[in-house]
Formats: sequence, structure tokens, C-alpha cells
Amino acid sequence: MPTAEQIRAAVEPLLAQGRGTLRSIECAADGRVEIAVALSPAGAAIQDELAKLVYKTAGSVAGVTDVALEFDELTPEPVAPPQSGVPGHPPLQDALAGVQNVICVGSGKGGVGKSTLTANLGAALAAEGKRTGVLDADVWGYSIPRMFGLGNERPQVSGERKILPPVVAGIKIMSIGFFLEEDAAVVWRGPMLHKALQQFLEDVAWGELDYLLVDLPPGTGDVSMSIAQFLPRARFLIVTTPQPTAQKVARRAAEMATKTDLELCGVIENMSHFTTPSGERFDIFGSGGGQELADELELPLLGQVPLTMPLRAQSDAGVPLVSVAPDDPAAVAIREAARSLIALSPIALPMMQVAPAGASGLSLPMA
Ligand code: ADP
Repeated sequence: MPTAEQIRAAVEPLLAQGRGTLRSIECAADGRVEIAVALSPAGAAIQDELAKLVYKTAGSVAGVTDVALEFDELTPEPVAPPQSGVPGHPPLQDALAGVQNVICVGSGKGGVGKSTLTANLGAALAAEGKRTGVLDADVWGYSIPRMFGLGNERPQVSGERKILPPVVAGIKIMSIGFFLEEDAAVVWRGPMLHKALQQFLEDVAWGELDYLLVDLPPGTGDVSMSIAQFLPRARFLIVTTPQPTAQKVARRAAEMATKTDLELCGVIENMSHFTTPSGERFDIFGSGGGQELADELELPLLGQVPLTMPLRAQSDAGVPLVSVAPDDPAAVAIREAARSLIALSPIALPMMQVAPAGASGLSLPMA
């Protein structure tokens, strides 16, 4: 059976140069593939030619028996009404209007693999044909760009003064790391942080997305509070390791989410166990913590991700494991977690309720 990832890799180059974007890819077990493409005016001008190319290219992917193609038009970016003091600023309620699900990925403490899972969950959702974005809100320990092989590029800015997120393997990515000198230490004051996050949510051209994953900083604090304020209906996914102490700190993060009225949607246990090449299994960080936390919070345990060398190595190499070795046990667990996430009923999200009064102090330098 062909995978959505294979179809995406084959078809996406045909839509380069602003011709359009892939809206969805559905692959059936019998090899039938349904592709939906949103065309820009440039793409619409050569629609017949593009259709032929898409049929031919997708049809030549191994295992494909039939291709169904649907075209629609890209909705133009809304033209922002003038607002006092901030030229070209869209109304707050319009921000993220095209994003169906926002999932904040949080943990009680650092080092539990939260960013690694966020990046790989993003890749797994994209492989399922979901339009996906990843926002790195881990402002003190931003690592998402590195995990996607991006350096400190400066994102471009559109004619409508929107920041264009770099796209890697179909995933839109935004991080504070794009706006800082490499490895620069950042001291964030509350209002600056709030303003920076607001810009990431409001001024980035996220467009139409099925999922926006937000990599939160570990612990409880300003960022989570701001996110909860901006995205009142975002959902919160907790990453923990199996040992009891990790569980305890993860529970605190969960309590914070509840206090700020973010809906909790599930737990993922990372570093669950390690299996040697001869098949011997070691519970290096204990066992059962993820399930206990999930039971206690009455949430589903979406996955138990084992420790594997390739997961670490691929994070360092800058290509998510899920994209290159989907059969690695850690990748399998993450892909299952992504499918479970999709299975949880999606909710429609009205975004950006709050215009923080007088929050100011930071303007992100744009390319
Ligand atoms: P956090 O975002 O929680 O601080 P990271 O995602 O940066 O944690 O992960 C910390 C380190 O652990 C990284 O080097 C990462 O590659 C590694 N890591 C995370 N999860 C796993 C795993 N399941 N197997 C192997 N290495 C892992």
C-alpha cells in the first residue's frame, strides 16, 4: 500500500513556485489514492497540464492502482484593515482561523524528549496526509529548527507583512531560533514573551492546517499561560518518562493546564524501555508511570515510546526518525500515537481571544 508520505514526496515538487499546496492525501489499502490540491492563480492557469502531471507522477508511485484528483482554489489571505499604530495588522480573531487543531506538547521537566516527540509527531501527522505546522514555543531551549535540519535562517515576509514559515517535508515550522544569533542566550521578560508568542500566532502565515503542534517549554509558567490566553481551546498533550518522580512533575504541568482551562487530551510515555539487539528488554527509567498518570488524569495513554539509538541520532542529524525509518520501534510508537491523536475527535478552534493591553517590547526582526 502506498503511503501519504510517498505521494507527498512525489507530487509536492509539481506544486513548487507557488502553484498550489497539497490539501490532503488519502491512501486506501487497495492502492487507490485520493489527492486534494488547492491551486493558486498561477496553478489554476495551468490546471489541465498540472492535473496530467499529478496523475502521471502519483500513478507511478509503487503500489498505486488508481488516482483521484480534486482541485480547489487557494483562499487569498484576508486583507488586513488598518489598525492604529500597527500597520498591516490583521484582526486578532482572524489569526489561526484556518487551523483546525492546536495541540500543545508539554512536560513537567526538561530532557524527557518533549521536543523530539513534537518533531516526530509532526512528521507522523504529515505522513498521515494531515496539513501540519510546528511552533517552537520552547523559547529558552528551542531545538525544533535543529531537529528539522534548519539552521538559523531568516524567514521571508509576504506582501501582507506575514512571516512565512519555512516548510520541511510539508511541515510549516516556526521558532524563536530563526530570529536569534545561534546559541544566543535569551532573557525574556513576561510582556516581551507574551508579545513574541502573540506574533508567532498572529503574524505567521500558518494558512490552512489540520494540526498545529506547539512545543511548550518544560514546567509551568508564562508561556503556557500566554498560550492558554491566546488559544483558549488548544489541547494539551503531556510527555512523561515512566519513573514516579517524572510523573509527579508531569502532574504539576497537567494541573497548570487545567487551571488555565486548557483541555488535556492525552499522555505519551517516552523512554519507556530499551531492547537490546538480542531482544533483552530493560526498563531503564522504571515502568508504568505513563499509564498511572493517564489513569489518574482520566486521559488516554496515546503511546509508549521506547529508547532507541536511531531516534536520538536522527534528532541530531536533523531529519525526524519517522520520516526516514518508520519501522524503528520508536517511530512505530510515535506513528501510532499520531493516529490515536487523529482519532480523538477534532474540535473547531476560534483563536486569539485576547488582545493583551499594552503588551509590547518586542518586534521580531524579519528578513
Ligand atoms: P526535551 O524537549 O524534553 O528537553 P529532547 O527532545 O531535547 O527533550 O530530548 C532530550 C534528548 O533525549 C535528545 O538528545 C533526544 O534525542 C533524546 N531522546 C528523546 N527521546 C528519546 C528516545 N525515546 N530514545 C532515544 N533518545 C531519545
